[in-house]
Amino acid sequence: MDSPSTSDAISAAFAAQRAKADERRLAFGYAERRSALEKLSDMVWRHEAEIFAAFAADFGKPEAEVIFSEILPVMQEVRHTLKHLRRWMKPRRVPASLPSFGTSARIMPQPRGVCLIISPWNYPLNLCLGPLVSCLAAGNSAILKPSELTPSVSALIARMIAETFPPDLVTVAEGGKDVSQALLSLPFDHIFFTGSPAVGKIVMAAAAKNLTSVTLELGGKSPAIVGPDADIGQAAKWIAFGKFINAGQTCIAPDHVLVHASVKERFLAALRERIAKAYGSGAGSPHLARIVNDNHTRRLEGLLEDAKAKGARLLSGGGVKDRSIEPTLIEAVTPEMEIDREEIFGPILPIIAFDDIEQAIANVNARPKPLSLYVFDRNGAFTDRVLAATTSGGAGVNLTVLHFAHPDLPFGGVNHSGIGVSHGEYGFRAFSHERAVLRNRFSPVPLVFPPYEGMAKRLIGLAKRFLG
Ligand code: NAD
Repeated sequence: MDSPSTSDAISAAFAAQRAKADERRLAFGYAERRSALEKLSDMVWRHEAEIFAAFAADFGKPEAEVIFSEILPVMQEVRHTLKHLRRWMKPRRVPASLPSFGTSARIMPQPRGVCLIISPWNYPLNLCLGPLVSCLAAGNSAILKPSELTPSVSALIARMIAETFPPDLVTVAEGGKDVSQALLSLPFDHIFFTGSPAVGKIVMAAAAKNLTSVTLELGGKSPAIVGPDADIGQAAKWIAFGKFINAGQTCIAPDHVLVHASVKERFLAALRERIAKAYGSGAGSPHLARIVNDNHTRRLEGLLEDAKAKGARLLSGGGVKDRSIEPTLIEAVTPEMEIDREEIFGPILPIIAFDDIEQAIANVNARPKPLSLYVFDRNGAFTDRVLAATTSGGAGVNLTVLHFAHPDLPFGGVNHSGIGVSHGEYGFRAFSHERAVLRNRFSPVPLVFPPYEGMAKRLIGLAKRFLG
C-alpha cells in the first residue's frame, strides 16, 4: 500500500489498524512482538547506506553522527527491550491491603491499541523509530508521521516500513501540518508527539477532543551552569559537544551558558580552543551538520542580528555559508533580545556571567521548566544546591546530553518541556494501559454488606478503629 497522505487514505489506514486491534490484543504476544522488533532492527541495518545518503541529502549530517545519534540509539532501544520484554509484559503482583484481604492484586500491562507517532526533523530516524520500538513492544499498531522538513529521510522511512510491516500493524503517513492535523482528528488510543511546545499545545487540544492519552516530548531553553570550581577543560569539552552536535539542532542541547564570573575568561578560552580543534574556523566544517533549511538558517541569522542590534557582543564565530553556521559565542544578552526568549536550536551559544549561585538559580527559575539542565562543578555542594533548587525534565552533572542514552533513565520534560516519559521500560509503560485486576479468593468483605446490623456493624467499627 502507498503511504497514506490524503484524508481518505489516512482514515482508511486508521480503520485497517482499528479493525485488527481486538485480534491483536490476543494474537500479538511475546513471540510476535520480539519478531517485529528483530525485523525493525534488520530493516535499519539493511538500509544503512541509504540512511547515510538520505541524511547527507537532507542536512549534511556527518556519517559518524548518523551512526551514534540516529542508528545506535534505536538499536540500543531494540536490544534493551528484547532483553527485558518478557519481564515488562508480565503482570506485576502487588500486596494486599486491609480491605482487599483475601484477594490477589495484579497490574496487567495491556496494549493501548492504535497509536500515532508524530516526529520532528532534527533526529528524524531516531525520534520516529525509537518510540516505535516501545510501541510495538507494548503490543500496539502505529501510524508514523515523520517530519516534512527532512523529506529524504521521511521517504526512506516510509519505504522501509512498507517493505517490512503489514500496514495494519505499522504504516507511514508522509506530509506536513495538514496530514498531521487529519491524523490528529482521529480517535487514536495514544499519541506520542515529539516537537515544539507550540505544536505540543495543538496536539494536546486535538487529543482532548477524543480523550486520547498523550506523551509530549517537547523542547525549551536548557541551561548549562558552570560553577566556580568547575573543571574548565571538562566543561568546555562537554558543552561544545552537546551544543554543536547536529549543529545545535538538538532538543537537549545547552541553549545558553551561565558561568561564574571568576572563571568566565578561562572558560571562554577553553571553549574557543575546543571549537577550533573540533570544527576549525569559518563555516562549512565537514564535522558540523548543516542547518535543516533556508528558513531556519535565516531565523538563526535573524536571532543573531537582533541580539547584536540590541547590544549583544559577538565573541567568536558568526560565519554563514550554504546553510552552515559557524559555532558562535555571544555575550551581553538581555531579556529584550529574541535570542533570550526563543529556543535557539542552532550553533549560537550565549554566555552569561553570574557572581552568586542564587543568581544562576533565579535565572533558571524565571523561565519555563527546561527539558534538561547541566551543571559543572567539582564541589558536590554546588551541584546539589543547583539540582535541589531548580527543576527540569532531566539533568546532567559534569556532562551534557548523555542522559538521553541511558535506557534505564526516564526521558522527558516537565510541563512546558513535555508530559510523560519514554525510553526502555518507561517507553513500554507509556504505550501500555496498566490495568488493575483484583481477583477474589476468600474476601471477607460480604460480611459487611447491608443490612448494617450485628456482625456487619461490629466489623465496620473494628475497621474504623484499626485504620483510624
Ligand atoms: P514541530 O513542532 O514544528 O514539528 C513536529 C511535528 O509536528 C512535525 O512532524 C510536523 O509536521 C508536525 N506539525 C507542525 N506543525 C503542526 C501543526 N500546526 N499541527 C499539527 N502538526 C504539526 O517541531 P520541529 O521543528 O520538527 O522540531 C523542533 C522542536 O522539537 C524543538 O522545539 C525541539 O526542542 C523539539 N524536540 C524535542 C525532543 C524531545 O525528545 N523532547 C526531541 C527533538 C526535538
